[in-house]
Amino acid sequence: MPDSRFLPLVVYDKRFLIWWGISLYLFQLGSRRQLDFDLDARGTQVLNNLNRLAQTEQETRPVHDTLDHFLGHTGAAPYAELRTRMLRRLIRMRSLDAARLQGRFVVALDATGHLAFRRPHCPHCLVYHHATHTTYLHQVLEAKLLGPAGLTLSMASEFIENSDSNADFSGEARKQDCELKALSRLLPQLRGDFPQLRLCLSGDSLYACARTLQLAKDHDCNYVLTFKPGHMPAVWKDFQALLNLCPENSLARSTPEGVHQVYRWVHGLSYRDDQGRTWHFNAIECKETVDSETTTFAWITDLKVDARTVEEIATKGGRHRWHIENQGFNRQKNSGLNLEHVFSTDPERLKAYYYLLQIAHIILQILEVGSLLRDVAAEFGRTPMQLFGSLKNLARRLLEAFRYIALSDEAFDYVRAGSIQIRFNTS
Ligand SMILES: [Zn+2]
Repeated sequence: MPDSRFLPLVVYDKRFLIWWGISLYLFQLGSRRQLDFDLDARGTQVLNNLNRLAQTEQETRPVHDTLDHFLGHTGAAPYAELRTRMLRRLIRMRSLDAARLQGRFVVALDATGHLAFRRPHCPHCLVYHHATHTTYLHQVLEAKLLGPAGLTLSMASEFIENSDSNADFSGEARKQDCELKALSRLLPQLRGDFPQLRLCLSGDSLYACARTLQLAKDHDCNYVLTFKPGHMPAVWKDFQALLNLCPENSLARSTPEGVHQVYRWVHGLSYRDDQGRTWHFNAIECKETVDSETTTFAWITDLKVDARTVEEIATKGGRHRWHIENQGFNRQKNSGLNLEHVFSTDPERLKAYYYLLQIAHIILQILEVGSLLRDVAAEFGRTPMQLFGSLKNLARRLLEAFRYIALSDEAFDYVRAGSIQIRFNTS
C-alpha cells in the first residue's frame, strides 16, 4: 500500500476542466475514454493550446475519470447557465437579428430521446411496456433559437423524467412525465433567463392546444403552431368554411427552385377549451406544389397575418421549425457529438454532459457557418464545405490543428476577440 503522502497531488483549475469537457464534444470524440487518447499531451501541443484557451498553467492533463468526478461535484446547473450566457452574448452582438420574425426571435420547441436502456436505469426513467419487452427512457424538451443560416441554438432544456415533484397519481396508475408537462416547467425558465426578449414559439401540432396558448400568454410569447385536422377538429372545420368566404386573403408565390405556393388565411378563429376558456387566433394554409404533387400545410398564430407578412410567418415561424429535427437532434445523434451515448453511470452527471454537448454544438455551428471560416475558405476561392468536404472532415481538421499546431497567441486573445462581430451568411 503506497503512502498517500508521497503520491503527487495535481490540482486542476475548473476552467481547464470545463474546457476539457467541452473538448470531448468540440472535437467530436464520441466517448469519454477517447479523451485519454485523442487529447494525449505527450508529443502534442494539446496542453499548450488548452492552457492558453483556459488561461491556466496545468503541467499535466487529467484522465477522463477526473472529468466525470469533477462534474459529480459541480452538478449540471453551472453548464446550463454557461449555455444561457453564450446565447445572451450572441443576441447582444446582434448576430442573430436576420432571423427575427416581426422583431421576435423564433424559438422551436420539440422533445427528443436522450438515453434508452433495456433495464431499469434510475428512479426517474420513463417506462414503456411493449409486447415483448420494456424500455427505460430519458427524454429532453428543448427550446432552440432558430438563427440565420440554419443555426439551431439550445436556449433552454427541460429533462422529461419521473420525479416526486411532477408525479401525478391517479388511482393505481402513475401518469408519467411528458413533453407538454415539461413545457410548463420550461417556459418559466426560458422567460426568467431572457426576461426582455421578444419571443415567438414554434411547435408541431402536439403544441396546438390550450396548455401552450395559456403558457404563451402567461410568459408573453407569440406563437406559430402546426394546425392539423385531428387537433381541435371543430376549429379546423370553421377554418375550412371561412377560407372559402374570404377569397381575397390569398397570395401565390413561385420559388426559384420551382416550388409553387398558394397561401390563404383567416382572421379571428375561436376555440373554446375544456376549461371553458375562449382563445382567438389567425390561421394560415399553404398549398405547395412540386412536380404536380401538392402538399398542404397549416398553422395557427397570434401574429398579424396579411399579404405582406404571410410568407415570412409561414417560413420563419412554420417551416424553419424543421431545423430542430435536422440540424438540432439528428446532427447531435449521428455525429461524434453522440448525444445518445451514456457518458456517465450517474444520472445527474449525464445532465452536465448534455449541457457541455449543447455548448460545444453552439461553438461548432458558429464555426461552420460563421464569417471567420468563410473568409479563410474565400482565400482559396472556395466555400468552407468545398474546402473541407464534410462536417466530419472539419471536426477532424480541428482536432489535428489542436494536437499538432501551437496556435498563435492572437487566437487566444480574449480582449481582441471581444471586438470581433460574428456574421452569418443569410443569402
Ligand atoms: Zn433513468
